[in-house]
Amino acid sequence: MSIRVDAGLRSELRHYGAPDLDACFNCGNCTAVCPLSETGVPFPRKTIRYLQVGAKDRLLKGLEPWLCYYCGECTQTCPREADPGEAMMAMRRYLIAEYDWTGLGRLFYKSKLWELTALGLVSAFVIALFALFHGPMVTDRVELLTFAPVEWVEPGDWVLALVLGGLMLSNVYRMYRLAMSEGPGVLERPMLYLEELKTLVLHFLTQVRYLQCKDKKYWVNHFLIMTGYSTMFMLVVGLLRWFQTDNIYPIYHPQRFVGYYGFCALAYGCTVALIGRFRKRDPIHVHSHTSDWAFLVLLLLTSVTGILVHVFRYVEMPLPTYYMFVIHLAIAVPMLVVEVPFSKWPHLAYRPVAMYLANIQARAAESEDRPAVVGAEPA
Ligand code: SF4
Ligand code: SF4
Repeated sequence: MSIRVDAGLRSELRHYGAPDLDACFNCGNCTAVCPLSETGVPFPRKTIRYLQVGAKDRLLKGLEPWLCYYCGECTQTCPREADPGEAMMAMRRYLIAEYDWTGLGRLFYKSKLWELTALGLVSAFVIALFALFHGPMVTDRVELLTFAPVEWVEPGDWVLALVLGGLMLSNVYRMYRLAMSEGPGVLERPMLYLEELKTLVLHFLTQVRYLQCKDKKYWVNHFLIMTGYSTMFMLVVGLLRWFQTDNIYPIYHPQRFVGYYGFCALAYGCTVALIGRFRKRDPIHVHSHTSDWAFLVLLLLTSVTGILVHVFRYVEMPLPTYYMFVIHLAIAVPMLVVEVPFSKWPHLAYRPVAMYLANIQARAAESEDRPAVVGAEPA
């Protein structure tokens, strides 16, 4: 099959943090040591080769960058210090931007100024909404539901979830179209798509593939951030009326227990990841793109301001509760609007989808007795 070459691909990838790959002489050492490349799929070497020669089409159709969990073992053993782990990371950022049809992902990845301005504008919008439309501020006791009635906040949550979910799904569809352009499509092998749904669910909920990497602590931290985030999302979008009340329940009540889990998992996971990025001791933390910082810092601030709302309510401080609630939303909403569809966050969705599609490709190839386009371990 002919490969169309894009001479500008390498310089384009620099915007996404790709290292200089001139040093790479395609020895394949990185592929040999990669714990996730064990079933005959030559990554990261093959993907790096695509990048070197400007094979944009191959890169866009490939799922390999998503099969990498960035353990850094290839980077540690590369004889030319070409940093293949970071190259895979840069390719994931590039793919996120390319799947996004609005073009905003590309804009935010390429320009710190645009990303920070977008975050600032959404934040200012949230503050302006509260300044104009908040309910009465009861000051002799805490009445958060009077200040911010749940009947107002809940529809806002749902609209946000629908818009962001729609954007994410449309981008996932573009990923599917690219990755499965050489088949099999869902209409060709519907049973295969159905049978492999378990792969999608398993990898989304557990990121179990990460456990194949030597250092298990990365999986633990990733799992904490993922479950903390999912817990808080479920509480705020699906169970807001149960979660946002003016009642203080006993400590053993599930509402408090679940909320504390979300806070602790996010606060711990984000703090550990941020400390790692400040220290730069592990290969996976040496390079940090603005989107990496923004994602972790906003998640941490969202969880800390969320627990502060709870603390102020608990110790009966009305005004700090209301102000902290506004600050909390002025951080959480821009994080959701900018990070979920356009920046670092979508990897939580693309990675399990990639496992799913890769397994479908592998099984289809197996049944037709031909090499897989890309491969993955059986579910
Ligand atoms: S990135 Fe390093 S280990 Fe991998 S093929 Fe290139 S030179 Fe070899
Ligand atoms: S970072 Fe780890 S998982 Fe990713 S390609 Fe390198 S060795 Fe494989």
